[in-house]
Amino acid sequence: MILLDGKNLSAKIKDEIKGNVESYKVTPVLAVITIGDDPASKIYVNNKKKACEYVGMSFLHLSFDESVNEEKVIKKIKELNKDKYINGIIVQLPLPKKFNEDRIVNTVDINKDVDGFRSGSAFVPPVAYGVMEIFDYYKINLEGKNIVVIGRSKAVGIPMVRECLKRNATVTICHSKTENLKQYTKNADILIVAVGKKNIISKSMIKKDAVIIDVGINRVNKKICGDVNPNVMEKCSYLTPVPGGVGPMTVVMLVKNTFKAYKKQNGIIDMFDVMNNE
Ligand code: NAP
Repeated sequence: MILLDGKNLSAKIKDEIKGNVESYKVTPVLAVITIGDDPASKIYVNNKKKACEYVGMSFLHLSFDESVNEEKVIKKIKELNKDKYINGIIVQLPLPKKFNEDRIVNTVDINKDVDGFRSGSAFVPPVAYGVMEIFDYYKINLEGKNIVVIGRSKAVGIPMVRECLKRNATVTICHSKTENLKQYTKNADILIVAVGKKNIISKSMIKKDAVIIDVGINRVNKKICGDVNPNVMEKCSYLTPVPGGVGPMTVVMLVKNTFKAYKKQNGIIDMFDVMNNE
């Protein structure tokens, strides 16, 4: 069984981006909007800040109190959209319940939507992008494989399905209303789990030698764990650990998307290069 080391791979990619940013002698800027003080979001935003600064990009954090009026947030995003010095804009989700997430996310200029959340965005959402980089690095071929994705969120599950289809896999999507989940997971050559529930998948539910991608992040007794029971290690061929698997890849792919946004906005690359996973 091989652990798919996202920590090490993300460090390599970060160094590549740093080298490229230095060679262009530029400082791309990522703007991050947060509303309220979700503790998990604080950690994610801090990781994004550290990664941007490491590669030589600027990080602009606009933090709103939960009491803010939605119109004020929309107005700020529109200002950022027009600001030629801002290359990427993300809204850290989840937002407090009273806000219309779709409306806020869809206000981000599609050319600066480095989270790829808008429909028709050229940017591959960072979680799916990071998982595809892991497949490439470890030479895991998806063509013709039976892939089961558990989770159908707009940010994680659906983009994952899209990316797997681009690589000619046969994809099944499972979700909370799926009956007899095991019947699907047992047949998966590659199982991608993005639910947010500890131990939702265990050894008896997987195929022998399956590749398991654990996207889940759960906090249990102040410790972080994924969605997959560690007992799968006795049966699978590859597994992404949590922490140290998909998480660090997600952060670095956001940074990569921001650099792509910079290059697209400055005529260095075209839309095809933005869409391309390279
Ligand atoms: P989400 O929006 O809550 O979506 C969860 C999905 O899981 C939904 O599609 C839901 O089905 C499905 N689900 C819930 N219970 C299920 C069950 N018992 N059986 C099968 N499917 C079930 O969450 P998300 O934003 O996609 O995130 C998923 C997980 O990934 C979370 O743990 C999150 O923290 C983590 N995450 C990790 C990273 C990273 O970088 N590693 C980044 C983002 C998110 P319905 O659609 O029917 O409700």
